[in-house]
Amino acid sequence: MGPSQDRTTTVERGAFAIARCTCGWSGPARRARAVARDDAAAHATARHSPSGAGDSPAPPD
Ligand SMILES: [Zn+2]
Repeated sequence: MGPSQDRTTTVERGAFAIARCTCGWSGPARRARAVARDDAAAHATARHSPSGAGDSPAPPD
């Protein structure tokens, strides 16, 4: 129903912006919020794939 970005957010620390996720992950401090949001999107895609999660037989190791 909603995009994967629903679980991510960005917090501001002084002049920096940091991406955070409900799973506990947090990205590096960025000078621009847009970059932090990009970190959040990349994390959500890597860790919380909108489609495909739950039907994978075994992760490649
Ligand atoms: Zn996460």
